[in-house]
Amino acid sequence: MPSGNVRVVVRVRAFLPREYEKDSANLIEMNPVTQETHLNPPPPSALRGSRNKILDRKTFTFDNSFWSIDRDDPHYVDQEDVYNALGQEFLDHNFQGYHTCIFAYGQTGAGKSYTMMGTPEYPGLIPRTCRDLFERIKANQNPNVTFTVRVSYFEVYNEHVCDLLVPRRETPVYLKVRESPTEGPYIKDLTEVPVRSIGEVLNWMKLGDRSRTTASTNMNDTSSRSHAVFTLVLKQIEVCDGDETIERLARIRLVDLAGSERANSTGATGARLREGSNINKSLTTLGRVIAALADQAGRRPSGPNSKRDVIPYRDSILTWLLKDSLGGNSKTAMIACISPTDYDETLSTLRYADQAKRIRTRAVINQDQIS
Ligand code: ADP
Ligand code: MG
Repeated sequence: MPSGNVRVVVRVRAFLPREYEKDSANLIEMNPVTQETHLNPPPPSALRGSRNKILDRKTFTFDNSFWSIDRDDPHYVDQEDVYNALGQEFLDHNFQGYHTCIFAYGQTGAGKSYTMMGTPEYPGLIPRTCRDLFERIKANQNPNVTFTVRVSYFEVYNEHVCDLLVPRRETPVYLKVRESPTEGPYIKDLTEVPVRSIGEVLNWMKLGDRSRTTASTNMNDTSSRSHAVFTLVLKQIEVCDGDETIERLARIRLVDLAGSERANSTGATGARLREGSNINKSLTTLGRVIAALADQAGRRPSGPNSKRDVIPYRDSILTWLLKDSLGGNSKTAMIACISPTDYDETLSTLRYADQAKRIRTRAVINQDQIS
């Protein structure tokens, strides 16, 4: 089976008004040739009181280091550049019949939602993927191929799965996760709607976004505590000579993870803290899964009798649902989103991303021949 490494890119976002106001220093440098990312220690004036540890400059190399700090910079990477560098190629894979998954990781405010969803003025990977998908279908010249596209959108919030394509009720409705021997883990009764145009899919996307859980914390980001998973399923049916048909199926998963900051740093208490620790459960489990997969990849090639590690996918809802995307039949990419001003959180995100680079997945073309 062909296997490939998880593609890992990092993106540093622009300064926010509050960072300008505080005159925060930029700690990030990127080399557009080597794709290295350097994290510099904050200037001594920014280190408060008790902190007297000496911090080092850290260097990491990723598949891409996307510089999105200053639009006037010649190396500035905008939403279209991110799509061209990553989204386009992943959609190529989908048309070949591969499952793909792109997930955004990073602390709250680091640019995950901007990168995945974007704004009306600067659309991100999700709307660009949808647009390109329907453009390619429209441009298809082969009359023997028909395409169907379905969309679903759910969030994992507090270890519960909520359907984002149904109107929110007074009492939330939680869906159950099941596992089928052939299809793997899936969500029972999740809405999956057929879509025929970019307009239709964008409407569903907006509806889903409005349904996202809005529990604000001191870091006041409404979506910082939920993991949102947007999925497109592309089915191609080709009628060949002699009544034979070929069916190709690709799942396109686009994931906006909850903020990676520790629960205690958000100042949450009581019910919010409980949610925080549960979200940490999904994220800590994701961390453990990534560590275990990276470790396993480091010890390959393994013989037929070598013991396979047990990867703790089932320890959280998120990792259970993303099992295939993380260590199985999928081409997978991680976008590590970082702020230019936060040494500790950025270092922890870069280390996480560095580990993910070692993971290998085994993607196969999902094709059935029916004659
Ligand atoms: P997250 O989803 O990781 O919590 P957001 O995507 O909401 O973070 O980004 C936080 C803020 O930073 C938003 O106001 C967003 O518009 C802005 N932002 C994020 N990334 C960029 C970028 N690359 N360029 C410009 N502004 C950005
Ligand atoms: Mg967000």
